[in-house]
Amino acid sequence: MALIVQKFGGTSVGSVDRIRNVARRAVATRKQGHSVVVVVSAMAGETDRLLKLAAQVSTTPDEREVDVLLATGEQVSIALLALAIRDMGHEARSFLGHQVQIRTDSAHGSARIQGIDAQPVLDTLAVGGIVVIAGFQGVDEHGAITTLGRGGSDLSAVAVAAALHADVCEIYTDVDGIYTADPNICEKARKIDRICADEMLELASLGAKVLQTRSVEFAMKYKVPLHCRSSFHDGEGSWVVPEVEAMEGAVVTGVAYDRNTAKLTVMHVPDVPGTVAGMFRPLADADINVDVIIQNTAQDGRTDVTFTVPRSQAQKAIALTEAAARQLGCGKVLADSHVAKVSVVGAGMRSQPGVALRMFTAMGEAGINIQLISTSEIKISCVIDDRFTELAVRVLHDAFELDRPPGQLRESQD
Ligand code: ADP
Ligand code: ASP
Ligand code: MG
Repeated sequence: MALIVQKFGGTSVGSVDRIRNVARRAVATRKQGHSVVVVVSAMAGETDRLLKLAAQVSTTPDEREVDVLLATGEQVSIALLALAIRDMGHEARSFLGHQVQIRTDSAHGSARIQGIDAQPVLDTLAVGGIVVIAGFQGVDEHGAITTLGRGGSDLSAVAVAAALHADVCEIYTDVDGIYTADPNICEKARKIDRICADEMLELASLGAKVLQTRSVEFAMKYKVPLHCRSSFHDGEGSWVVPEVEAMEGAVVTGVAYDRNTAKLTVMHVPDVPGTVAGMFRPLADADINVDVIIQNTAQDGRTDVTFTVPRSQAQKAIALTEAAARQLGCGKVLADSHVAKVSVVGAGMRSQPGVALRMFTAMGEAGINIQLISTSEIKISCVIDDRFTELAVRVLHDAFELDRPPGQLRESQD
């Protein structure tokens, strides 16, 4: 008998029929003799709807109150799921974040999990009940409701699985698993049966929202086996594993894109020590994550600095950067919110040269202009005009022949 944590995302609980479907699956797993903990998201679209409501009543919504509001989405789905399970004749109990005691820090909207009190869950499991837990939410030391950031139910599920030493954490979603690219925009995308955690972490942080970035990090840290699969059928999905053997030749594993990107350029920055630090300090203080950064070679003691920030924080970033630029004696600040970042990811890049050239050639042949480039050991990212995002994903998928099953790979892709 295993202990299984099953997480269902918004689409998977998006209607009454789908909630019944989730209930049937949880009950079937329980009937096989396993202990079952289900973590659910809010019904599809609900979190966005609540955010819009908050924006209608406040121009600068208070973060604590926004969390109180957002947490209601998951409260509805746990109650409905527990009711549906009980209607099928099985014991089930729902728990909000503060009832399970998913303890977090007080960073409303992006709280970090500090601990979980597994006892209420264990008590329900001990009497054969199915436990239903609200994803995405926790409670801070003052008793205030917190949320974990968009897509945070994945993290809740992994954290619960880690706390309970579960045998597996199953992430049920609206696609069949983890693909070589978003299957909703790239029809040649291929399901990856086993993906190494390093690559999954990179893909997630570069925009592949099939798994939330911090959930992958957490799973790596606590060695939680992750199985990402469809909520609509029983087929095997994708496993995130510590290492993938026998993958020689696969230089690139996947393509990701991120439209939540905006580009800022500060002109005529004085080329003296401390200026760039002065420019980025206010952004860091405002918790704005600066991503790709390019500084040109200085001419006549001045240079230009270009960087990207999340598009959702662009307005705030522009205001802060303009103020800093004035103070530091820089020139104008130019902003462009119509950009996106496309990336190729693969652990095989560590040992194989020529990947960047192949990427740039493919983009060039498709007429896609590259605005910024950034690389790390296992990824290359390009910032481009966001009108070309989908084209770029498909072109790169073709360029690295990602539709080929691993068994058919040639020894070298060059
Ligand atoms: P859930 O509501 O179940 O958490 P999400 O919408 O957060 O689901 O994540 C699933 C979506 O992730 C898919 O519908 C797909 O469009 C998108 N996606 C992006 N990149 C990938 C990828 N590499 N593999 C699979 N899905 C991906
Ligand atoms: N409901 C939350 C969101 O939409 C959490 C989640 O779905 O994982 O971001
Ligand atoms: Mg999600």
